[in-house]
Amino acid sequence: MNINVTRSSMPPLEEYISEIAPLWETRWLTNMGAKHKQLEADLRTYLDTPHVTLFTNGHLALEGILSAMQLEGEVITTPFTFASTTHAITRCGLTPVFCDIDPITYTLDPANIEALITPRTCAIVPVHVYGNICDNDAISAIAQKHGLRLIYDAAHAFGASVNGINAANLGDASMFSFHATKVFHSVEGGAVTYRDSALADRLNLTKNFGITGEEIVMPGGNAKMSEFHAAMGICNLRHIDEAIAGRRAAAERYRENLTGIPGLRLCPVQPGVVSNYAYFPVVFDGARYDRDTTAARLAEQNIFARKYFSPLTNDSECYGHHGDETPIAAHIAGRILTLPLYPELSCADVDKICEIICG
Ligand SMILES: *Cc1c(COP(=O)(O)O)cnc(C)c1O
Repeated sequence: MNINVTRSSMPPLEEYISEIAPLWETRWLTNMGAKHKQLEADLRTYLDTPHVTLFTNGHLALEGILSAMQLEGEVITTPFTFASTTHAITRCGLTPVFCDIDPITYTLDPANIEALITPRTCAIVPVHVYGNICDNDAISAIAQKHGLRLIYDAAHAFGASVNGINAANLGDASMFSFHATKVFHSVEGGAVTYRDSALADRLNLTKNFGITGEEIVMPGGNAKMSEFHAAMGICNLRHIDEAIAGRRAAAERYRENLTGIPGLRLCPVQPGVVSNYAYFPVVFDGARYDRDTTAARLAEQNIFARKYFSPLTNDSECYGHHGDETPIAAHIAGRILTLPLYPELSCADVDKICEIICG
């Protein structure tokens, strides 16, 4: 059997069936029905956050919050992310300004932000890559000093917290992805969590054609989560703690096996952070086998790791091959491999993967 980089969690089939069964009575399948309302409420509780607005996916959630904030100008962001982050900024008519990352956590380095601020800068969009939490204290201080909005791409950080604060409560707003490959999912889905309740109306307008009641008040799109997707989210959320515990066991096994191996760099455990164990990235810098050789050696055994994130978004055709402007991100992107990690991954499989890596 193949071991892929991830494997989607599924609730027991009967549980999903009983969750969706009422839809055969109500015939209310989308447009903010009962399941949608329940998932929003369940997420407010689980994430310990006051405001949650669901979307059809994480990407449109990020576009939704950027447009709801009515931003204009430049946005300081990281190139070490999934294409979605940079595309959302661009598709909202904003200009991404790429800032280099911290060499240890691979998140936006606060020390590099201020030099990039111009009179046109309106916001900062950092990413909690792999579930590593950004240096929120330093980044928020810069945002406050310069009057910038702070919106996190928290697609990797569902369930993670720092010093007792859930990642959903950092900055002005956070975007979560509930894609099938994420720690928590609704097949496709996403959400925005935010501090200012006044954003709720505009977020709801952006996802429902700009229509409220019988008025068309703005040119919104369609990014509503269906009842079937919300039902999957409701079921998966009941099992999330078990899922994270399973990931944790596999991640700790990797850490035991790979710590101290020359030329391999693991992400350190961040002080004060309760991780969600979303990914297990390893940087190959002078190891026995380099990154690409290791990926090929694993693939020979039907084990599929991912070069995640490579290329950098600023090193793509779309954004003009400027990876050299963020040298730390470029260095990491050339050497990083994300190993398989999911709740049911056995210690025996982790050991096998580590044996191949270490040769
Ligand atoms: C998954 C992901 C997204 C996009 O989320 P979708 O739900 O797939 O639209 C955005 N940013 C990051 C960092 C992601 O990993």
